[in-house]
Amino acid sequence: MNSSLNKNSQIQINPVVKWCKGKRHALIMDLSKQRFQQMPLGVVYLLDYLSGKPKNITQIQNMFQKQREQVSSYVDYLIENGWITTSSDKNQDRHEESSTSTHRVIQSLYVKLDGQTSLEWLSRIIVGLRKHNVVKNLIFVISEQSDLERLSYLDAIDTTSTLGFQSIGLFITANDYYLESHRALFSNIELIICDSDFKERYLSKNTEDESYKIIELSDILDVSVNRFTCDFFSYQKCVDGSKGMESLYIDLNKNVYPHPLESSYKLGQAHTIEQLETTLKSSKANIYQKVSKNKVAKCRDCEYRFVCQNPVWSRSDREDLYSEPTNCNYNPIKGRWIN
Ligand code: SF4
Repeated sequence: MNSSLNKNSQIQINPVVKWCKGKRHALIMDLSKQRFQQMPLGVVYLLDYLSGKPKNITQIQNMFQKQREQVSSYVDYLIENGWITTSSDKNQDRHEESSTSTHRVIQSLYVKLDGQTSLEWLSRIIVGLRKHNVVKNLIFVISEQSDLERLSYLDAIDTTSTLGFQSIGLFITANDYYLESHRALFSNIELIICDSDFKERYLSKNTEDESYKIIELSDILDVSVNRFTCDFFSYQKCVDGSKGMESLYIDLNKNVYPHPLESSYKLGQAHTIEQLETTLKSSKANIYQKVSKNKVAKCRDCEYRFVCQNPVWSRSDREDLYSEPTNCNYNPIKGRWIN
């Protein structure tokens, strides 16, 4: 064990450290450094033991007599990384979950427009929503359009661009290839969400000249270690579900869904901001936002479940919110990625 420790050193877990037990492995998460690392399951037993009052070395050695050497190496490793601290450490990192905002956050509000959509309605919805929610991105969903209707997108971008979004973007699905004629829109937005086919056909040639960011749908649905995120917000969402709807989609009929690709789960309607507020407080919305990875088949056995942002709409059974995802190649029972 670390030579700087004496038997009276009190050892405790750094409060920014969380851990998660899977079937085969454990995951240790440092939420302040946004780092995570897969660990042997034994580390979880040590962390569980240390999670109460601080313990000294003698107590730890007595508790894990049979695994003494192994536990000593875990202690050394955890100390080296600052994940457990001793009573003599002066500079413990003390960020707590309370640093997380208590606002309801809607990462992306998706709105489908056509030539009939009232921009006055759109403004009222956005301004009204913001009284109780932080809305980060506004994404217009492209529908079948004529050139005339394209003007409503330009007007909508113009009307909403002063409302302080991180970005205003377009969501384009595979059937919208006639959008080539709408290229004028692209210079007015910051973000395009599309499939790889659309990107290949219409965007890849000139992207260096463009200012917008392209997000491919396959990237959103990519489940891999380099896509996982490790911070307080994501952690809380994976553990308890989100505080509000992570995204919202309003279609041409003012029907509200959790996402444009989640059309089988209607939450309510948004003809007025009052109606939208009622929709957001509905039991259907509450159930959806509380789907944590702990409840989802397959994910509940996975050590990555507190860093994995795979959306609810990737599930295999549209009728069952807790059915396993269709797009994940990790086998938590074997602890292996399957290609
Ligand atoms: S099993 Fe679930 S939590 Fe684990 S990596 Fe796959 S989608 Fe993410």
